[in-house]
Amino acid sequence: MNIIEKDKQYIANTYARFPLQLAKGKGSLVYDETGKEYIDLGTGIAVNTFGVADEAWKAAVLSQLDKIQHTSNLYYSAPCAELAEALCNRTGMKKVFFSNSGAEANETAIKVARKYGEKTKGAEYNVLITLKNSFHGRTITTLSATGQEVFHEHFTPMTEGFVHATANDLDDLKTLIGAHKCCGIMLELVQGEGGVTALDKDYVQAAYRLARENDLLFIVDEVQTGNGRTGALYAYMAYGITPDVVTTAKGLGGGLPIGATLLGERVQDIFTPGLNGSTFGGNPVACAGALSILHRLDEDLLASVREKSEYIFQTLTGAKGVKGVSGMGLMIGIECEKDAGEVIAKCIEKGVLVIKAKHKIRLLPALNIGWDELKKAIEIVKEVIAQ
Ligand SMILES: *Cc1c(COP(=O)(O)O)cnc(C)c1O
Repeated sequence: MNIIEKDKQYIANTYARFPLQLAKGKGSLVYDETGKEYIDLGTGIAVNTFGVADEAWKAAVLSQLDKIQHTSNLYYSAPCAELAEALCNRTGMKKVFFSNSGAEANETAIKVARKYGEKTKGAEYNVLITLKNSFHGRTITTLSATGQEVFHEHFTPMTEGFVHATANDLDDLKTLIGAHKCCGIMLELVQGEGGVTALDKDYVQAAYRLARENDLLFIVDEVQTGNGRTGALYAYMAYGITPDVVTTAKGLGGGLPIGATLLGERVQDIFTPGLNGSTFGGNPVACAGALSILHRLDEDLLASVREKSEYIFQTLTGAKGVKGVSGMGLMIGIECEKDAGEVIAKCIEKGVLVIKAKHKIRLLPALNIGWDELKKAIEIVKEVIAQ
């Protein structure tokens, strides 16, 4: 049996994989088992922040592996405390809870919001407002938060206490706040899985003011948008708001699983020992790698992300077969006249990996992708879309 057959026989049938086996890589180049080269514009869904086998990240991870690979949260360990300190220093948030994935980071944020509602107004104030077309994870509760009915099918009953507002519609948000006993609002500033669409700045700022006026927690899900992806360290920084809770995961670990829930001033003391926990959360190897990633997300790097973003927008906007380009930074959606699946297959054939978001092509290149590689890959994408 070859690997594809083996996978089909033994792996649970939840993924429609591309017919491609990735064996290794370096930076933004990856190779299949036959040695064919691809320029990677997907980075394992915005995870490999500095590409594959990045030297600085590898050095940080390997050095920690030589010391201790896991401690549990029964003991103190340096990488976890140092990463939390760096995250707080860079964001102004006060405390961090570490987990292993985006869904878990959001689960924690939901717990924080419910406990905050209980504390400030009473336990019946437990409803969270999220947006239609959002994506917050695959656990039953984060699916419940996810404002797409299709994800709820087959798994009912969903967790209670979630209502979904129409994005960029302030009146809808006001109506829901009035109609339910709410504890918070949770949203993605650029909806990723929903089709790579950035929320309007005016809407976000008005929603933020509404949250303040009604004493609701303002939670931003930066699992995908975080860690430099949008050209800001965290997307909320470009929106001119200071959330109460920020969740992140994907790119933070640079390739190893990590989730983080950042707690602002209002909720920094919401947890007490025993109220939440994780066996793997704050794993020293994942944290050591993440710390090296975070240190490199400086203003120069973020400026280069914005510059590369502008290049992609300019090259593809109005190009033949392109209906529209959306997103922010190096998180870009391309709406094509052609079927997205066809475009992706053709790009793979021509040596470029791109992924999908709804009916769009999604680009999530490494933040340090070389100009030559980026230009070559975008020309191929453009050509395929035009054909
Ligand atoms: C990917 C994603 C999640 C889920 O993250 P997992 O690590 O797969 O659990 C949650 N929210 C957003 C915005 C995401 O993009």
